[in-house]
Amino acid sequence: MTRAREMKDEGLYMGKLDHGADLLEALAAFCRDKEIRLGWVSAIGAVQRARISFYDQGTQQYQDVDLHQPMEILNLTGNVSLRDGAPIVHAHVTLGDHLGRATGGHLAKGTVVFACEFTVRAFSSEDLVRGHDAVTGLPLWEMDG
Ligand code: ZN
Repeated sequence: MTRAREMKDEGLYMGKLDHGADLLEALAAFCRDKEIRLGWVSAIGAVQRARISFYDQGTQQYQDVDLHQPMEILNLTGNVSLRDGAPIVHAHVTLGDHLGRATGGHLAKGTVVFACEFTVRAFSSEDLVRGHDAVTGLPLWEMDG
């Protein structure tokens, strides 16, 4: 059954991240600083190197992929919700190399910003809380209705 909650728009932020920052951690820190518990994140820019993850559905484990090269952030899309009482950012990225080839995955810690312009749209609603999902093994949103 498809489940969803209506969100109330609480404003839009646009900003840039510091050169050398960890992409995922810097976005999460911004949300914590602004007390954003629910939101939508997008970004473009470039990274000095990247770590993305692929979720193996069979083993239910993430496999990290390290990309030791500068790449463009062609797209970053993610959301903000709560896990263990704190806001976390779950984001996926598409990255482009020097030949324009794209790769991507689940954004992991260890991706270093070269330059990054981001947008966060903040929402309010009943909290969306992540909890262990027995079927997928993932920390999915707990939604009863
Ligand atoms: Zn993911």
